[in-house]
Amino acid sequence: MRLSTRFVALSLALLMVVQLAGYAAIQASIGRNARVRLAEELAVGQRVWQRLLEQRAQTYHDAAALLAADYGFRAAVSEGDAETLRSALENHAARIGAPMAALLDTGFGQRAYSGDAAALPLLRQVSGTLARQGRLVVADGQRVLQFVVVPIKAPVTVGWVVMGFPLDQALLQDLHALSGLHVALRVGQAHTAAPALASTLPQAEARALVGVAADRSEAHLAGAAWLLRAAAGPMLPGTLPWQALLLGSVDQALAPYRTLQLTLAGITAAGVLLFGLGSGWSARRVARPLQLLVHASQRLGRGEYDAPLPVLRQGDEVGELAQAFDQMRQNIGAQQQQIRRMAWWCPLTGLPNRLQLRDALQTAMSGGAPVALLVLGLDRFKHVNSVLGHAMGDTLLQAVAQRLAPLAHAPALVARLGGDEFALLLPGADAADAQACAAEVARAFAQPLALGEQTVDLSAGIGMACAPGHADDADALLARAETAMVAAKQRGSGAALYDPAADTASVQTLSLLTELRQALALGQLRLYLQPKVQLAPGAGQGQAVGAEALVRWQHPQRGLVPPMAFIPFAEQTGFIRHLTLWMLGQCVAAQGALAALGVQSLSVNLSTRDLMDRELPDKLDALLAQHGAQASGLCLEITESAIMDDPQRAQATLLRLAERGYKLSIDDFGTGYSSLAYLKQLPVHELKIDRSFVMAMAHNAGDATIVRATVELAHNLGLSVVAEGVEDAAAVQALSALGCDQAQGYHYAKPQPLAEMLAWLQAQRRPTQKLAPALP
Ligand code: C2E
Ligand code: CA
Ligand code: CA
Repeated sequence: MRLSTRFVALSLALLMVVQLAGYAAIQASIGRNARVRLAEELAVGQRVWQRLLEQRAQTYHDAAALLAADYGFRAAVSEGDAETLRSALENHAARIGAPMAALLDTGFGQRAYSGDAAALPLLRQVSGTLARQGRLVVADGQRVLQFVVVPIKAPVTVGWVVMGFPLDQALLQDLHALSGLHVALRVGQAHTAAPALASTLPQAEARALVGVAADRSEAHLAGAAWLLRAAAGPMLPGTLPWQALLLGSVDQALAPYRTLQLTLAGITAAGVLLFGLGSGWSARRVARPLQLLVHASQRLGRGEYDAPLPVLRQGDEVGELAQAFDQMRQNIGAQQQQIRRMAWWCPLTGLPNRLQLRDALQTAMSGGAPVALLVLGLDRFKHVNSVLGHAMGDTLLQAVAQRLAPLAHAPALVARLGGDEFALLLPGADAADAQACAAEVARAFAQPLALGEQTVDLSAGIGMACAPGHADDADALLARAETAMVAAKQRGSGAALYDPAADTASVQTLSLLTELRQALALGQLRLYLQPKVQLAPGAGQGQAVGAEALVRWQHPQRGLVPPMAFIPFAEQTGFIRHLTLWMLGQCVAAQGALAALGVQSLSVNLSTRDLMDRELPDKLDALLAQHGAQASGLCLEITESAIMDDPQRAQATLLRLAERGYKLSIDDFGTGYSSLAYLKQLPVHELKIDRSFVMAMAHNAGDATIVRATVELAHNLGLSVVAEGVEDAAAVQALSALGCDQAQGYHYAKPQPLAEMLAWLQAQRRPTQKLAPALP
C-alpha cells in the first residue's frame, strides 16, 4: 500500500472511531432522555386520567343531585308510583346522557331502574360501598362502569339516586386529545394478557397489545417500542379488576431528536470528507516528494549521477531532505568521477593503468582478432628506489612513460601495470610486429637517463605474447606476457616471446618454492662438492686444491632437485639469504676434513640478494668464529650480473669482504657485459670462465679465442683463472697450454656429497693412481 493511502486510511479510520463513539454516546443519551420524558408524560397522563374521571363523576353527581332535589321526583318517591319513578329516571338520565339510572331504597334495594339492565347485577354488588363513597368505577366482564350516588332527603334520607356511565371510547379519545398519549381499557388481572375493551391505538398496535400484561413498563407493538403505565380502579367483591393502560410511543418521543441526529450524521459525514481531503492533501505533500526522492535514489543506484533532483520548493523537513539528498548526489557524482579517473589512470605517469589496459585488451581480442601484448619489467628499478630514493624512482618511472608514449600510435596503447611494469598493447599485430616493437623500445631506452647527479642505464626485460595462439582471454594473455617477461629477465636477453613449454616448468618450480621454506627446517637441503684441480705447474699440480659448494634439494616426492629449479625463486623471495648462510655453515664445518686432503679453499656461490645484505660480512665473521675457521679458506663466487644489478652497493660489500680476508671470484665470466677494466676496480682474486665457452672451445675457434684472451687479460690484471665445464682430457690439455690456473668439471668429478668427496680425494692421493676422470 502506498504511504499516502495508508496515511489517509489510518487518519480516516481514527476519525471514524472518534466520531462513532461520539455518535453512539449522543444516541444513547438521546434514547435515555426521550424515555425519561416519555415516563414523565405517562405520569402526567395518569393524573389527567384521574382528573377526567373525577370531572365526569362530578358532572353526573350534580345532575343526580338536581334530580334528587326535584320536588315532583321526591313526591313520586314518597308516593311510590313505580311507573312514574321509572319515567322520571328515564327522562332525567336522557337529559344528562347517562346510559343508566336507578332509584334505591334506604336498604339499597332497587325501587326503579332505567337503561341498560345488564349493569344491574354489578350495581347490586357495589351499592353498599357506593352509598358510602358516593362514586365508584367498577368492572364486570363486559364493561367498566362509573357510578355516582346521591341521597334523597325529605329531610331524612328516603332513598338514593344512582347514575351509571361506561368508560367508553369517547372518554379515551378525550384523554388522547388532552395528553397525546394512547390509552386502552382492559378488564382482568394486571399480570395477565387480555384484550382491550376500548383503545385509542391504531389497529395493528391494538392487536399486538392483546398479548402484553398490564404490569409491564415497556413493550414492543408492531415493531416499535412503547412505554406503558397502568391506572387501575378498586376491586370490590363481585367485580373484576380493570386498568386504563396509558401508552407512549418511544419513536414519537424520539421524533424531535431526529433532526438533531440527522444534523449530527451530516456533520460527521462532512467532517470525514473534509478530513479525508485534508489528510490526503498533506499525505501527498509528504509522499510525493518522497516518491521523487525514491526515483532519484533509484537513478543513483543505476549510476546516473548527472540528473539533478526535481526542484522542491518546500520549506519543511521534506524540502530539507531533498536538498541534502541533492547535495549528496553531487558529492557522490564528483567522487565517482574521481574514482573513475583513479580507476582508469596511473596518477604518477598519466598513462592508462592495468584496468584500462585489460579493458582495451578485452575489446581488442573480441571476435578472435589478432593482438600482440608486450610487458616490460624495468631492470634495477628496486635499486634506484632504495639507493637514490623514491622520488628518483618516481622520476625514472615518469621518464620511462615519456619515452614509451610516442611508441603507441593509435590504436596501440601504452599502460603502466604497476611497480616497474609497463605494457604495450598492439591490436592487429603478430609476433613479428611485437619483435619490431621490442626493438623500438630498446632504441628508446638507448640513451641513459640523468637522475640528479647519477646516470642510470634504462633497460627492461620484455615479454611478448600474442593472441590468438598464446591465450584466449585478456587475463591469460596478460599473465603469459608477464611470464615471458620474467623469463627474459632471467635469461638477460632483452625480449622473449612466450614459450608454453617453459611456462609449465615454471608452474612446477613455483609450487616447489612454497615447500622450499620448509626444506631448510626439515633438513632436506644437501651440500654437494665439486673439486677444483690445479693445472698450473708447481706445488699441487694435478691435484684438487679447492672445491665448489653446490646445493641440492632432497625432496621427499620429487627426489634430488637441481639448484636451477629453486635458486632463482629463492632469490626472488629473499629466501636465498638463509640458504647461503646454511651453505656457508656446512662448508665451514667441512673445512677441516677437506683441508687434510689438500683442499685448502672452498668456493661458495653468493646471490645478488646476499650482496645487497649489508650485514653479510658480520654474519660470515660470526660463522667463522663459531667454528674457529679462517676467512682465507673461503672463496665467494659472485656472478657478473649480480654485481651489475647495483654496482655501487656490490662494490661496497665486496670491499668489506676482501678487507676481512675472504677470496672473491667472478663467476660465469663472459656472459655479462662487464668489462675487465671495470672488474679491475673490484677487489677480486679469481675469474671463472663460463662453462659455455670452455665446452664449446674444442670445436669453436671463436670461443677458444675468448678463452685465450680472457686468460691473458686476467693474468695481466693479477687474477687467477678457473675454467669450469671441463669435460674431457682435451680440454685439460688446451687449458693447460693457455696457462689456465685451475679446472673444474665432469672430467674430474661431478658435484657429490661430502663423504663421497672425501673418498674421492683419498683415492686421488694414492701414489699408484694419477688424476683420472671420475667413473660415470
Ligand atoms: P655455477 O655456480 O656456475 O655452478 C657450476 C655449475 O656447473 C654446477 O651446476 C655444476 O654441476 C656444473 N658443472 C660443473 N662441471 C660441469 C661440466 O663438466 N659440464 C657441465 N655441463 N656442467 C658442469 P649446478 O650444480 O646444477 O648448479 C647450477 C647453478 O646453481 C650454479 O652455477 C649456481 O649459479 C647455482 N647454485 C648452485 N648451488 C648454489 C648455492 O649454494 N648458492 C647459490 N647462490 N647458487 C647456487
Ligand atoms: Ca659457481
Ligand atoms: Ca659458473
